[in-house]
Amino acid sequence: MISRIHPLPAFRDNYIWTLIGDDGANACVVDPGDPAPVREFLDSRGLGLSDILITHHHHDHTGGLADLIGGYQPRVYGPAGIAGVAEALREGSRVAVLGVEFTVFEVPGHTLDHIAYYHDGSAHRDPLLFCGDTLFAAGCGRLFEGSPAQMLASLRKFTALPPATAVHCTHEYTLANLAFAVAADPDNPALRSRVESERKKREQGRPTLPSTLALELATNPFLRCGEAALAASAGSRLGRPVTDETEVFAAIRKWKDQF
Ligand SMILES: [Zn+2]
Repeated sequence: MISRIHPLPAFRDNYIWTLIGDDGANACVVDPGDPAPVREFLDSRGLGLSDILITHHHHDHTGGLADLIGGYQPRVYGPAGIAGVAEALREGSRVAVLGVEFTVFEVPGHTLDHIAYYHDGSAHRDPLLFCGDTLFAAGCGRLFEGSPAQMLASLRKFTALPPATAVHCTHEYTLANLAFAVAADPDNPALRSRVESERKKREQGRPTLPSTLALELATNPFLRCGEAALAASAGSRLGRPVTDETEVFAAIRKWKDQF
């Protein structure tokens, strides 16, 4: 069981999600790009590192692997082809961490190797999603390797999950994402109230994460490409009517890249 999930700040705006077992002896980290904050956290609390979960190959998610493997001998799970990953995972793989079972989704788009980890809530108070750089609060990852159709299909795997799912993304991009979301979906009242509440959290120095899937469904433009408002925004970018959801997503994503 997991007693606590702690966001360790790293680099400029990354969080290394740290799951602490209820035995108080071991932890698991997700995407440790930098080993230093992980070591400091574990050592100050006398915790071991039993497991590491990796979502994709980017250095800010994997840069701490060699150091942490050398120091703590954790089991390391992730996509195939990453140095240090001992157990390569695929769509439908199951992995037990701190006594909690996660199911793996393949979610290509940001990178082709990207995977996400989902726990259904049976051993925690809420379902849990660790989605790396695929879904962000009010945004989604840039398409470095995949196509808009691939990313949209990946995001649909998330929208099928329970609304109470706690969404753990890797970056604190929320306020910038919300500025774009307001431009793309200007008449959405849920979005306007979210801007206020997230801004308050940042003013108090608190993370805006985790989010919930319910909040993302209501406010994230990349999960709302089937809505008329987003189709209208995409249409005004392209200068012609757009109805196909993949085309809406592609136009909104491209606009965000330039925003
Ligand atoms: Zn990335």
